Amino acid sequence: MIRIPKAFASSYAKARVKFLEAAATAGTHIESFNHPLPGREGEQLALDVALDGDPQAKRLLIVSSGCHGVEGFCGSGVQVFALHDSEWREKARSAGIAVLYLHALNPYGFSHLRRVTQENVDLNRNFLDFSKPVPDNADYGRIHPLLLPETWPPDDANRAATQAFIDQNGVKAWQAAISAGQYEFSGGLFYGGNAPTWSNHTLRQVLSRYVNHANQIAWIDLHTGLGPQGVGERIHAGRDNAEALARARHWWGDGVTSIHDGSSSSALLTGLLWYSIEEAAPNAQYTGIALEYGTEPVVEILDALRGDHWLALHPEAPAELAAQIKERIRHAFYTDTDPWKGQVISQARQAMFQSFGE
Ligand SMILES: [Zn+2]
Repeated sequence: MIRIPKAFASSYAKARVKFLEAAATAGTHIESFNHPLPGREGEQLALDVALDGDPQAKRLLIVSSGCHGVEGFCGSGVQVFALHDSEWREKARSAGIAVLYLHALNPYGFSHLRRVTQENVDLNRNFLDFSKPVPDNADYGRIHPLLLPETWPPDDANRAATQAFIDQNGVKAWQAAISAGQYEFSGGLFYGGNAPTWSNHTLRQVLSRYVNHANQIAWIDLHTGLGPQGVGERIHAGRDNAEALARARHWWGDGVTSIHDGSSSSALLTGLLWYSIEEAAPNAQYTGIALEYGTEPVVEILDALRGDHWLALHPEAPAELAAQIKERIRHAFYTDTDPWKGQVISQARQAMFQSFGE
């Protein structure tokens, strides 16, 4: 066991070191998939994999972090803590469960304090068959110019127009229009891309190597930025399938929400990451959740993202403004306090222990 705050890091580079050290100390099998671009401090970026347990185990639990880059501060802390947690490791071993830790699915976004990949893509909207027509999100198109004004911070006219939209349609509609996923504006928010990204290809490569022997697969994908602060919402991570949802609720409690029936604080989304498991292990029984921890109110989250996208489109922005925007997005997705970290670890640990209905 380590002290909870020690499991968390203040940068991607430090988080990666903590993860690799913890994985090595635990004697896990480690493999790194290097990213082609450098990190914010010039460091090597990678999707790092640690397999704890029997490579032939029939039950496999995937615990993944950093799908949304900057959200990785939270997920990395959970993974580092788990690798030091001898009680958890013993429990998994005795139940015949191998645990596959995927550290920084989107290492570029983690390091550069972005929610998106280097392609400006929301990785969790990118798992589509791009040979087919992409989903349409006309609501996003209507507000795109409002989201990314010429100047940042937004001027009074932009602020008034934004507020008018929210007053007329409600915060839920504002959130849904922005976050559902869109495939039209490559510089915009929650852009799903027009092809599989590096992170998409790499994740599928990892899964093809590590999951095909398992006949029962559970997945806990760690996220932040939705819901009440410190509360980990368990959102069913799978297709609209009653049997899989019932199993998720049996394992992780009746509180497991679904984006398909409106019970989740997340909007209905397209192109989701966990669809990748179907290709990697078509015959396995799959059950998953996104564990989504609240940080700040949703309007603040969306404003922090607007600023970050504006900055990506305006590299000429003054350094001081750029630093403010980066600090704001980090704060939006990572509540850097001991109580919050304590809530994160205890809820993640509980979810891990509950996997497979044990
Ligand atoms: Zn997320």
